[in-house]
Amino acid sequence: MKPILYIVIPCYNEEKVLPITSSMFLDKLTTMCASGKISDDSRIMFVDDGSKDGTWEIITKLAKEDKHYTGIRQSRNRGHQNAVLAGLMEAKDCCDITISIDCDGQDDIDAMDLMVDEYLGGCEIVYGVRHNRDSDTFFKKFSAETFYRLLKLMGVEAIFNHADYRLVSSRVLNEFSNFKEVNIFLRGLFPLVGFKSTSVYYERHERIAGESHYPLVKMLALAFEGITSLSVKPIHLITGLGCFIALLSFVGVIWSFVVSIMGKAVPGWSSMTCIICFIGGIQLICLGILGEYIGKIYLEVKQRPRYIISERTDDLF
Ligand code: UDP
Ligand code: MG
Repeated sequence: MKPILYIVIPCYNEEKVLPITSSMFLDKLTTMCASGKISDDSRIMFVDDGSKDGTWEIITKLAKEDKHYTGIRQSRNRGHQNAVLAGLMEAKDCCDITISIDCDGQDDIDAMDLMVDEYLGGCEIVYGVRHNRDSDTFFKKFSAETFYRLLKLMGVEAIFNHADYRLVSSRVLNEFSNFKEVNIFLRGLFPLVGFKSTSVYYERHERIAGESHYPLVKMLALAFEGITSLSVKPIHLITGLGCFIALLSFVGVIWSFVVSIMGKAVPGWSSMTCIICFIGGIQLICLGILGEYIGKIYLEVKQRPRYIISERTDDLF
């Protein structure tokens, strides 16, 4: 049986670009249907993320014109990650595979064919990865690549240069729906679900129309969200720093003793220095230990699944 594909497209104030890109998505979907790769029940699902312009009106008009278009609307703007999540959760029960993609035409839609081929070849997640960042300014390129390196350093398992253009099967989405956390950074979460995955490479272009919703401040906020929602390594770093400074302060205690024995200290100096170093060291170690417990609580409250089974021999027979 041919798989049903849902293309999930978050849109926020995109009245300028949607009339142009919607027909591009439809062309892609219909050619894929015609080539026999996917079922004709496949759909393009727009997620209006609480737009304040005419985006929703455009979506409803498209849905009336062609059955391949469908749309949902969020009660208010909740940001790109939540919009994608809403679309994926809505789509997962109606389809076999989803592809999430931005609506501004920046990501090359022809990569969808490769993604579907990889799915048909047995992959459950296919990450769209940018070939190069030639269309970016030097600053954007530098900051984005630093971000991916920082993520790796912090122990976050994200794919280098992959944003939110990816194919995910409904099977993976069903498992993913057990990740109940509210601080979501999708590109770091999907690798945690597991299953067979691969990457396809594509060129990223300039925005077709309209403006980016991700100025520097929002990008930094997303980077911060990515690290703090997936990693407790910063806490480990604080604990390590605490132990290091505590060690230094104990060396300070010995030093003040030596200075005092050699008779070079002003009366009362050694005892004061000892107390300050000792208390300082103890405080930092205690802070680190508290941090470790907070890190554990943080991971516990997320209630992520402890295991996910991908295969059973019973299913084979
Ligand atoms: N978007 C969204 N909610 C928001 C901001 C953006 O759904 O609050 C959508 C937007 O319509 C687009 C995608 O997320 O389809 C990526 O946004 P944008 O192109 O502005 O970001 P950039 O590509 O510049 O990083
Ligand atoms: Mg964009």
